[in-house]
Amino acid sequence: MNRIAANTAFVLTLTAAAVLTPHDTHPATGPVTAGHGWKLQTPNITHIDTQPWTIAFHDTTSRTKLTPYVKHTAAELSTHLGVKVTVSTRIVPTTVGKCPPSHTIAVRWISKPNPAHPNRSFAGACSLRGAAYSGYAYINSDYWAPGRRFHEYQRQNVIWHETAHTVGVTHPATCPKDKTGRKPLMCDVDTYTSTGTRRYSSFEQTAFKQLRTNRTHAAVNK
Ligand SMILES: [Zn+2]
Repeated sequence: MNRIAANTAFVLTLTAAAVLTPHDTHPATGPVTAGHGWKLQTPNITHIDTQPWTIAFHDTTSRTKLTPYVKHTAAELSTHLGVKVTVSTRIVPTTVGKCPPSHTIAVRWISKPNPAHPNRSFAGACSLRGAAYSGYAYINSDYWAPGRRFHEYQRQNVIWHETAHTVGVTHPATCPKDKTGRKPLMCDVDTYTSTGTRRYSSFEQTAFKQLRTNRTHAAVNK
């Protein structure tokens, strides 16, 4: 799929433990795409290029509701990816299965974005020649509904989790604890149970760093 260099390849990743991603094997000299508690969305995405990214919003409601959360996300991504990620006020309408503009993450706040799985949020990532290209995240507004008794940290964790998908990080094969006792936020169960700290865990931090490090392999393979 990543051989079709001229096209953006679309990858849809659901927030569901049941989604199976085929495992990839790489030659010893290739990019490192998985490790202890983290995994990249291979084969489509192995790295991130140096261009800055922008977070935009599907509509004004999404912008109002999600701006405070994605500001934290943008700061974390900027630090760990080593590329500038800023939150804009731009409206970029999203459609499932369609790639947002280059280096744009479009976020949408909507009730039951996947009617077949009404409790889920989901995200999609687009790639170009092995690099993360753009993405979207559909955040389930039911998490804010009175009576659902969602905690604020759970909302933030879901946004953390889905945003990481948009740049090419997926669910790890295993969900170990790090030195501080945290599990990967990309493990679905832990997205909802971890009492978040407005930070990615050390596992996602490693994945982001590897997206940056893998650039060298991408240059060699072109
Ligand atoms: Zn997920």
